[in-house]
Amino acid sequence: MRKLNCSNCGAIMTLDASAMTAECRFCGTRYVLNREDTDYYLDFYKQMSKFLAAGKDEHDRMMKTEALWETADEQIFGCADGRQIEIRYLYSASFREADIYVARRNIIYHFKNSGAELSDRFRHVVSFIDYPSADTKNLADFFPKVSGGFELDDGSFILVINKDADEYPLRIFGKLTGRHVAWIISRIENLCCVLEYNGLVHPQIDPDTLFINPYQHTVSLLGNWWAVSRKNAMNDDKVIMKTSMNLTGLRNTARDILGDDNAPAALLEFIASTPKEDAYEDFAYWDDMLIRAYGERKFITFETDDADIYGKKED
Ligand SMILES: [Zn+2]
Repeated sequence: MRKLNCSNCGAIMTLDASAMTAECRFCGTRYVLNREDTDYYLDFYKQMSKFLAAGKDEHDRMMKTEALWETADEQIFGCADGRQIEIRYLYSASFREADIYVARRNIIYHFKNSGAELSDRFRHVVSFIDYPSADTKNLADFFPKVSGGFELDDGSFILVINKDADEYPLRIFGKLTGRHVAWIISRIENLCCVLEYNGLVHPQIDPDTLFINPYQHTVSLLGNWWAVSRKNAMNDDKVIMKTSMNLTGLRNTARDILGDDNAPAALLEFIASTPKEDAYEDFAYWDDMLIRAYGERKFITFETDDADIYGKKED
C-alpha cells in the first residue's frame, strides 16, 4: 500500500477508511485526498475486502497474498553496531511517538526522539499480561510478543514485535459490512476483558493498533503498548486512565470501519452507546445487541467454521 507523507512535517499520513481524507498524527495536519489518491486507496481496500471474503482455497489465498506483497516497500535501518536491517513492509503510518512499519512476520516501531524509554515501557507492560486460568482460546496469541530491539546509528531505537503472516492492520481493509464489523467487535470485547482482568487501559485501541487475520477471523491488539497504563493512573498527558477508554476505543473503531448502509439498528445503537461499567458487562450487552442485530441462528451459520468466536460466555 502506497504511503502518503505529510506536506508539513514529512511524517506518514493515516487515511480515513473512506479514503477521502488523510491525517498526520504527528503534527495534526489534515487534508482531503485528490481524486487519483482516493481511487487508488479505494481500489486497494476493495482488494483487501476480497481477502475477507476468501474461502478456504489455499492456492487462491497464496496468490492473493503474493499479489498483495508485490505492493510492498523497502526500508533500511543502520544499526549503532554497523549492521543494517532491511525490511519489506506492506503498510506504514506515523504516530506521535513512533513510525510503524508492518512487515510480513513483524511489526517494527521506529521511535522519534530516541525512544529508549517508550521501548522499555512497551516491553515491560506486555511482559506481565496475565490470562484467566480457564483460558481455552489461547488469548496470549492475540497480544504482542516482543522479538527484539536495536539502537540505530542516529541514537534512535526500533522495537520489533512478532505477528502472524496472515495478520494485517485493520486499517488496510477500509470500510466493512455490518457482519464483519460484528465479529470484529466480538473479538475486541474479548480482548477488553483481558485488559479488564489485568486492570490495564489501552487508550489507543484503533484500526492501526488492531490486527486481523481475515481467514481465522481473529483480532489481535498488537500496537502502541507504550501508551498502556494501570487503570486510574495518570498518563504522561495528565489524563486519568479509565477502563471505559478501552470500550470507547472499541466503539470508535467500529464506527470508523463500518461502511454499511443496511447495518441493523441494534448494531448502530451499540456503537453509539455509552460503555457499560466494565468489559464483562459490556460484552454481555454486546451479546444481546448482536442477537438483536443478526439473530443467533443466522449468525452461527455465518460463522460455523469458527463458532468459538462467539462462545465467550465462559470467559
Ligand atoms: Zn505532519
